[in-house]
Amino acid sequence: MRSPKDMRIIQIDITNACVHACSNCTRFCGHHVRPFFMDFETFKRAVDSLKDFDRCIGIMGGEPLIHPEFSRFVEYIGEKYPSKYNLFATRKPIKEFARYMHDKNYILDESLNERKGPGLLTSVCDKYYEHFELIQDTFSFQNINDHQNPSVHQPLLASRREMGVSDEEWIPMRDSCWVQNQWSAAITPKGAFFCEIAGALDMLFDGPGGWKIEPGWWKREPEDFGEQLQWCEICGGALFHSGRLSSEEIDDVSPLLYQKLKEADSPKLKAGCVAVMEKGRTEFGTAMPDTANRYLSEHEERVSKLNRAIFPKAIASRVLRAGTDAGIEINDILKKETDWIAVAVNQDMGLPEEMIRRLKNVVLNPGVLYSFSQYKDVYLFNKNAHALKRAGFDGIRYCATMREFMNLWDADKKVCLDASFDELKNPDLDQWEKYVAGLDLREKEQAEKIDRCIRKIKSDYE
Ligand code: SF4
Ligand code: SF4
Repeated sequence: MRSPKDMRIIQIDITNACVHACSNCTRFCGHHVRPFFMDFETFKRAVDSLKDFDRCIGIMGGEPLIHPEFSRFVEYIGEKYPSKYNLFATRKPIKEFARYMHDKNYILDESLNERKGPGLLTSVCDKYYEHFELIQDTFSFQNINDHQNPSVHQPLLASRREMGVSDEEWIPMRDSCWVQNQWSAAITPKGAFFCEIAGALDMLFDGPGGWKIEPGWWKREPEDFGEQLQWCEICGGALFHSGRLSSEEIDDVSPLLYQKLKEADSPKLKAGCVAVMEKGRTEFGTAMPDTANRYLSEHEERVSKLNRAIFPKAIASRVLRAGTDAGIEINDILKKETDWIAVAVNQDMGLPEEMIRRLKNVVLNPGVLYSFSQYKDVYLFNKNAHALKRAGFDGIRYCATMREFMNLWDADKKVCLDASFDELKNPDLDQWEKYVAGLDLREKEQAEKIDRCIRKIKSDYE
């Protein structure tokens, strides 16, 4: 076991509601009669308590993006615990999102920020698209996994006694539990915990709650974990090294835990999605890889090719005549359209169908105003752009010309697309290289680390 202060990330669980019901979920999603949604005051206390932690503070669920106050939480963490560097990333169209995010985490979180900053753990659902701009502007680290892939989840609802682990074997086994040694401590609405699974068990089985959420709680050493270690007795974290595909949506539980789920009135159990394991059998199903990312080792698989949640849903093409009042016309268009809008100013026709098809096959940032090198005076924007929300219908109405309308966006959120915009695997690599070259990195060690990082990303594309 290790102290939370030595962890690479501490999680704040803001909800245990989720859009999925994966097998052997670490937050036991699907088993709660009523999922929780952390209130803002608790969230603030949680962030403030980690002020000097100096590593990543993760916002996690369930699916954190379905928390109704997600934006408010993100704005708070962005202000109190900001990412030190800002690469202005994820502005250009992205072809392979999981791959790109892997590169971005490597350069921004791991190399530049040295793992300090706000983090997000998400299954990349529709809400990710809705909050896309805010997410990219705020988070230093993103752990994405849509679970539409071969993720293997080990059983977690099992007691070591039922699995035949004796008292003598148990303590060293528990103390080397890979979850606590590689993953995170966590804060739930019920307090702070030495291990994220212990926090989830406390929530599921109506436990006594965790430590008070106060500055420095995370400096506790393993000898201070005390009564929280009771949760290890009914947890499979240290017992199993194999499991089943998350997409099967079945939980494997020991007989005692089956009984406890029944007493907790578990909806997932009632729905018949729980399988009772044989006592004494800790090896079954698919072996998990012995790597840092044991649930899923291939980062390219973190977002399935079938997951269209973050791709443009609709692109409406409109022509704007010269001499018309741009703002008034655009307000009319905004009222009718739901997603992306391409406006061609004083042209015979709007954005060609072939270009619309290509744009729908890349991930665009809804916060960005795009223009095109091959089409003069054609602009593409999303009705949910922060720039438009900030201006409001009134602010837009007073834009007499298209140029004034374009000025609603900050300069770093205007991108001109060239003809090959959907060909590059990582469109930001050159820009990242220039950005880091311009930094005044006094520490030789960090400069070397960043150099290694760029070389590694480049070599992966060769
Ligand atoms: S996406 Fe994550 S939190 Fe949601 S059910 Fe699956 S494992 Fe649990
Ligand atoms: S056994 Fe479970 S609760 Fe205990 S440290 Fe491991 S994962 Fe956490």
